[in-house]
Amino acid sequence: MTKFYSSLDEIKGELQSGKITVEGLVENYLTQIQANSHLNAFNEVFADEARSRAKEVDTRIRSGAAGRLAGMVIGIKDNICYKGHKVSASSRILENFTSIYSSTIVGRLLAEDAVIIGRCNCDEFAMGASNENSYYGPVHNFADTSRVSGGSSGGSAVAVQANMCHAAIGTDTGGSVRQPASFCGLVGLKPTYGTISRHGIIAYASSFDQVGPITRSVEDAALLLEIMAGVDEYDSTLSRAAVPSFRANLEASSSPKKIAYLQEAISSPGVDDEVKATLVKYIDKMRAEGHTVTPVSFEYLDYIVPTYYILAMAEASSNLARYDGVHYGYRSPDSTDLLTTYKRSRSEGFGTEVKRRIMLGTFVLSAGYYDAYYARAQKVRRLIREKTDALLKEYDFILSPTAPEPAFPIGRKEKDPVVMYLYDIFTVKASLAGVPAISLPAGNNSNGMPLGLQLIAKRFAEQELLDFSKYFLEL
Ligand code: GLN
Repeated sequence: MTKFYSSLDEIKGELQSGKITVEGLVENYLTQIQANSHLNAFNEVFADEARSRAKEVDTRIRSGAAGRLAGMVIGIKDNICYKGHKVSASSRILENFTSIYSSTIVGRLLAEDAVIIGRCNCDEFAMGASNENSYYGPVHNFADTSRVSGGSSGGSAVAVQANMCHAAIGTDTGGSVRQPASFCGLVGLKPTYGTISRHGIIAYASSFDQVGPITRSVEDAALLLEIMAGVDEYDSTLSRAAVPSFRANLEASSSPKKIAYLQEAISSPGVDDEVKATLVKYIDKMRAEGHTVTPVSFEYLDYIVPTYYILAMAEASSNLARYDGVHYGYRSPDSTDLLTTYKRSRSEGFGTEVKRRIMLGTFVLSAGYYDAYYARAQKVRRLIREKTDALLKEYDFILSPTAPEPAFPIGRKEKDPVVMYLYDIFTVKASLAGVPAISLPAGNNSNGMPLGLQLIAKRFAEQELLDFSKYFLEL
C-alpha cells in the first residue's frame, strides 16, 4: 500500500533525502488507482504522461530548479480544461470533447511542477451533492463503498481519500468542494468569490463558481490556494489585491476568537445526532481553550436553499445554452434539420438532473415569472449577504456542520431532488454571500464514516481562516 503522506512537506523531505522519487510516487499512485478502480473516482488516468512528467520533475529536483509543487501528484475535477486532454463535466454531451486551451489554474499548477495524474469523476456539470448524477456512474466512498462520495467533486475527494493522488482540485458552487471533503475526512476550501480564476473552468453558475483544493492538510490547502489565486486577464471578477504568502505565513492561531455557531444545527431534527454531538464536542473544547462561542440564529435560514437554487438554475440555464449539438460536443445521429439537432442533441446529451435545472432555470427567467422568482431571489441574496457580513463583523468565524449527515447510502436520496437540495443548507450560505469557507475533518461516527465541520470567515480573510483551521485540527 502506498504510504499516506500527511502533507507535501513530508514528501519533499523524502525526495530531498533521496528516499523516494517523483517517478516512484507516480508509480505507487497508479497502482493504487488500478487497485481501487471500483471506486470510480477517475474518468480518465493520464498514466504515461504522468510518468514522463515525473521524470522531468525528478531531473529538476536534482538540479535544484524545481517548482514549489514538485512532488505533488494531483487529480483535477473533470470540469477543468487541460489543453489536449478530454474534459467532459461527466456529461454525455461532452463525451469526446478535447480542450483546446488550458485553464489558468492548470497552467499555474504545472508551472510549479505539479504532476496531474487524471481527471476526476463529478456530478454532471457539477450539479449535485452525491456524485450520483454523473454519466459515468456514482463514485464510491472509500470508507464504505456502499455509500456516496459526496458531490459534486466526489471523484476528487475519493481520489485523495484512497491515496490515488496526494491532493485534488475541485470546484465549489454551493458546497461541492467542502461537502465531499467532509464525507471523505479531508480538508476542503472554498475561497472568497473572486480569488481564483475561472478561466477554463466549465461554467455552472458563474456568480457562485470557485475553484478549491481538497487536501489532507491545511498546509497543502494554503500552498495550493496561494499558487492558484491572483489576477488573470481572462477573469474580470478577480480581486486585484496581491496574493499573500498563505503557506509561509501559516501559523496555528490560538489567540482567543469570537465564534458564532448556528443554533439550528443543534436544535433541528433534520441534523444527525452524531453530527450534533461532534459540533457540541468542538464547541466545548473551544470554550475550554478560552474562545467565546455563541449560539446565533440566522434570520433567513429558510430562504437560503431556495434562493441558491433559483439563482444557480437560472445561471445554469444560460451557461448551458451553448451545448447545442452544432458547435461542439454530442450531436444526435437522428438530427434532420436545425431544430431537431438542438432538440435531440440536448435531450439525449444531458442527464435528468441537468435537464430539470435547465427547465427550472428557464422558467424563473421567463417574462411572466422573472420578477416573482429571479429578481426576488437576487434581492434575498443581497439580504443574506448583508446579514452574513454583519454577523462576521461581530464574530471572527461562523461554525456549523458541513452537512446535516455523514455520507449516505448510494441510491437513497437520488429519487427526491428536493431532499438532496436541502442537504446543502450549511454550505450554500457562504456561496450566496461570496465569503470563504472551509470544511475540516472532525473524526468519524460510530460506523467509521468521516464527519466534517465548517468554518466561514470574512471576505478575503483566508489567512485567518487557515491559521485557525490549523489550530482547530490540533484541538
Ligand atoms: N449541491 C449543490 C448543487 O447541486 C452544489 C453543487 C456545487 O457546488 N457544484 O448545486
